[in-house]
Amino acid sequence: MENEKKQKIVIIGGVAAGPKITAKLLRTDLNCQIDLYTEEDMISYSACGLPYFVEGLIEDPKRLIVRTPEQFEEKGANIHLGKRCTKILPEEHKIVVVDTKTGIMQEIEYDKLAITTGARPILPPIQNFHLKNIHTIRKIQDGIEIRRKIREESTKKAVIIGGGYIGIEMLEAFYKNGLEVTLIERDEHILPIFDPEISDLIQQEIINISDGKVKILTSESVIAFEGEEKVERVITSKGNVIETDIVLVAVGVMPNTEIAAAAGIELGVKNAIRVNNRMQTSIKDIYAAGDCIENFHLVSKNYCWIPLGSSANKEGRCAAINMAGQYDSFPGVLGSAVTRYNGLTLSLTGLTETDAKKHGFETVCATMTKKDKAGYMPEAENITIKLVVDKRSKKILGAQAIGCGDADKRVNTVASAIMSDQTLDFFLHTDMTYAPPFSTAVDPLLSAALVISNRIYGS
Ligand SMILES: Cc1cc2nc3c(=O)[nH]c(=O)nc-3n(C[C@H](O)[C@H](O)[C@H](O)COP(=O)(O)OP(=O)(O)OC[C@H]3O[C@@H](n4cnc5c(N)ncnc54)[C@H](O)[C@@H]3O)c2cc1C
Repeated sequence: MENEKKQKIVIIGGVAAGPKITAKLLRTDLNCQIDLYTEEDMISYSACGLPYFVEGLIEDPKRLIVRTPEQFEEKGANIHLGKRCTKILPEEHKIVVVDTKTGIMQEIEYDKLAITTGARPILPPIQNFHLKNIHTIRKIQDGIEIRRKIREESTKKAVIIGGGYIGIEMLEAFYKNGLEVTLIERDEHILPIFDPEISDLIQQEIINISDGKVKILTSESVIAFEGEEKVERVITSKGNVIETDIVLVAVGVMPNTEIAAAAGIELGVKNAIRVNNRMQTSIKDIYAAGDCIENFHLVSKNYCWIPLGSSANKEGRCAAINMAGQYDSFPGVLGSAVTRYNGLTLSLTGLTETDAKKHGFETVCATMTKKDKAGYMPEAENITIKLVVDKRSKKILGAQAIGCGDADKRVNTVASAIMSDQTLDFFLHTDMTYAPPFSTAVDPLLSAALVISNRIYGS
């Protein structure tokens, strides 16, 4: 073993998927040399924690770091900070990296390569984007700057462009810091990943619990920023002029796949890298994982792109096992997601009714609002659950659950049921826990399932 040539593994990108691959490879006790290259000056941090850092729930941004470069190096990996990969040369099994400070280029050989270059915020074409105090959020430094600015005495008003989950999490952070916030969403509804009536309910709830300090404008987009040096106003497509001291642009992300595309690697939905279930790209010895890859949706059986930290970690683990010469298979995603606003949990898994119909399912749905715990318990709160079932096969397709009560545990139960391909009839018998402080004798989720069963079987 000692004389055996070490396999040279090179990883590009160092936030979630890259460090996961590194950590798993180190644990797999493989005879390999691991070199991770990132253009940033830190690795292995939780971008997901940034809204809570901005809010002030976490004081030290270092708390968001999962593992430091030193911790990885102690275990035997080589971490190269401030090195951007500009080219992949698959024929030569090499990549080209450039030092972001000195500009010095280097060619690096690999036996196996992992692309974990993630995604970046989309910058919509809005006039005067160069003005100060216009931000996006992706990296720790973004969080540090936004937090500093919202705490300045002069910052009283904010505009958030985009009502996706990052927009909503940042709305909470701004609101909790005492700002008056206007959130502007181009779509008819905020959080368009939910069914429209659920999104409307969320919007109404957000307004109800924000003491008049939050405004939400839908079917409206921002066309220009105005101001001297700093942004002072945003102008919308409907001619509204909104005064502001800071703007957060959160209109979505796009995959960082330019170097992969230039190397001839096949791309798929939204130009994300197409991989098979072992995280192999279309080019031999090149793997990919995380936000830069396309996903396979387990319910629609279609390719999709749902960039999430939860998936990035699972995909990274799978890539590492296969790169180590063992076997692992990643089946795909359900798009399970959860977020919150000011005590309101917003969660979903699988397909919404809208998406299910788009994919040709004949749906039967039930939506109900119930207490999450026995109604006589002081801590009981309302949750609204929408369950979506396929009428023909009786398979469960998806669930959305929102409310100040325990919504996400219901959604996780459904995620598990979908993963094991359960039909409604089987799901109805799920043996869930019950005691008054935790649930109701018939869990609200099972109540929704019973309503659907009655609709299907007509009793
Ligand atoms: C504010 C916020 C909140 C979020 N909340 C959640 C949440 O609650 N739940 C959830 O599941 N997900 C959440 N996410 C998404 C989650 O953070 C991402 O899915 C996850 O970070 C993806 O990890 P990744 O390693 O694939 O890519 P990234 O995190 O994008 O990391 C890619 C890294 O590669 C580097 N890189 C790119 N190109 C090159 C190159 N050519 N050379 C060298 N380095 C390069 C980038 O600079 C970056 O450091 C959130 C994201 C944000 C921004």
